Amino acid sequence: MTSLLSYLIVMVPLSIIFNLPLLFIILKKQYLTVPFGILSAASLGISLFIIQPFFWVVLCIFFFSSSILTKMKAKEKSSITSDFAKGSTKRDAIQVTANGIIPFLFAFGYFLFELLPNLAKSHMNPHNPFDPFFIGVFAAFAVHTADTWATEIGILSKSPPRLVTNIRQKVDPGTSGGITFYGSCASLLGASLIAAVYLLFAIITSLLSIETIIFFFLIAIGGFLGSIIDSIEGAAIQGIYYCNDCKKETETNPHKRCGNETILHRGIQQINNDFVNLSSALIVTLFICLIILLL
Ligand SMILES: [Zn+2]
Repeated sequence: MTSLLSYLIVMVPLSIIFNLPLLFIILKKQYLTVPFGILSAASLGISLFIIQPFFWVVLCIFFFSSSILTKMKAKEKSSITSDFAKGSTKRDAIQVTANGIIPFLFAFGYFLFELLPNLAKSHMNPHNPFDPFFIGVFAAFAVHTADTWATEIGILSKSPPRLVTNIRQKVDPGTSGGITFYGSCASLLGASLIAAVYLLFAIITSLLSIETIIFFFLIAIGGFLGSIIDSIEGAAIQGIYYCNDCKKETETNPHKRCGNETILHRGIQQINNDFVNLSSALIVTLFICLIILLL
């Protein structure tokens, strides 16, 4: 218990010192709603940092890259984003939770089943990048980063998106399940960036090996596949509505653009964009953990 206490005595103040300036930037740049968006991000940031600062690094990469990409060319995108839940300029607590809950649960699992026992045994380095929970945190952030980058870059694509479930069918930009070439490249790049942070951890802790390189590829490819699963869910099961006033398809009820009630057009009413984000990350992360356990 004393080793846990000494760990917390170091990590809690450090976590606050690193998180406070970033929360101030988020507040100033209006990336999140006040107070609940900020509060959920603060609790996520502080707890991830305490468990493992590299978890916090990937959270920061995911969050700030997504926020910057969302604000980039926001005016050009606004005609599209007013019809779809994705790519709204300010994220709320529900969106933070939808993107943060899977990484958090895996980080918590890592804390309970790996970090705590290692601290109890007074290991010199209590962290273990071979642990499935540890890798799961990176995998979940890889999916979320890949998905957000694909959406934000894909919206700007000059050629129309194609439906992931029927690649010959062109759809309107922003449509759930629509994919573009640029969006898919961005998705692979985003996932690889998160995987690279995992690799960096292995390098600086002198744990670089064939195994950690395999895990790097698992995270990168898993993140990319997660964004494809996200698109498939968006095309196949997500609730899509129709606004009779605007004569447009939309992901939101009421319609974000006009505020009027919409009718369910296809998909399942209970399945919204947040659910799709969360479930695609969960599917990929569990699958990767299963592979690691079988290796
Ligand atoms: Zn409308």
